[in-house]
Amino acid sequence: MKYFGAHVSASGGIENAVRNAQLIGANAFALFTKNQRQWSAPALTPEQIETFRRAMSEAGFTAQQVLPHDSYLINLGHPDKEGLDKSRDAFFEEMERCELLGLDRLNFHPGSHLKRISEEGSLQLIAESINMALERTKGITAVIENTAGQGSNLGYRFEHLAYIIERVEDKSRVGICIDTCHAFAAGYDLRNREACERTFEELDRVVGIGYLRGMHLNDAMRPLGSRIDRHTPLGEGEIGWECFKYIASDARFDNIPLILETPNEAIWAEEVAKLRNFERA
Ligand SMILES: [Zn+2]
Ligand SMILES: [Zn+2]
Repeated sequence: MKYFGAHVSASGGIENAVRNAQLIGANAFALFTKNQRQWSAPALTPEQIETFRRAMSEAGFTAQQVLPHDSYLINLGHPDKEGLDKSRDAFFEEMERCELLGLDRLNFHPGSHLKRISEEGSLQLIAESINMALERTKGITAVIENTAGQGSNLGYRFEHLAYIIERVEDKSRVGICIDTCHAFAAGYDLRNREACERTFEELDRVVGIGYLRGMHLNDAMRPLGSRIDRHTPLGEGEIGWECFKYIASDARFDNIPLILETPNEAIWAEEVAKLRNFERA
């Protein structure tokens, strides 16, 4: 079964994310469980938790159809102690929020070395940060997203993801989310069937496709290997529909949230419907 959805708004109450997903005909969604541009948020009240859980069950959604995303401020590979501690605390809080909401995974960008420490040094800090968060929470999987490799962001090579996972103690609670735009910007070709075969074969060889806990389906505005992260609607960028057709019809991508982060919300319903047609084709 394919779970298609989008990163929907949760403004006015996290339960609205469920409603917003239903409005576009989705059977999956991503959300921020707090304001993604702020460090902290008031703790979730029992009422908020109950309302969200009720909305989920009424809509027939299970945790495996939801891919929460953490705050953009968090950098789990931060070179400075202060920045690292702050990030680790915030990450733990986000994991805890997911746990309270009955969700089972949290998607995040690995981190940045900020050109002050080596890539390896920063990747090690990220692994340690994950270990710390997993130790303090239950039932939540840390889902590392690949990146476009803009600036000093890590995670643009599949090897980075593998390096982190190798150092995570509880392998049952670590996973990956592959963003098609980010992979393409980082130099992994996805423009046709053969290119997709090669890229996902490489992912399987380097990391293991069994670690996949979600995908971000985005087309890319910039050419292959640009290292620039600019999403476009599906079929309107450099990647093209072939890639999304490939993913929609391949069983390796079953039962995980496949999330649109495409810029035109007005056509999300249309994009979801097209993906569903490819699934059936
Ligand atoms: Zn993404
Ligand atoms: Zn992106």
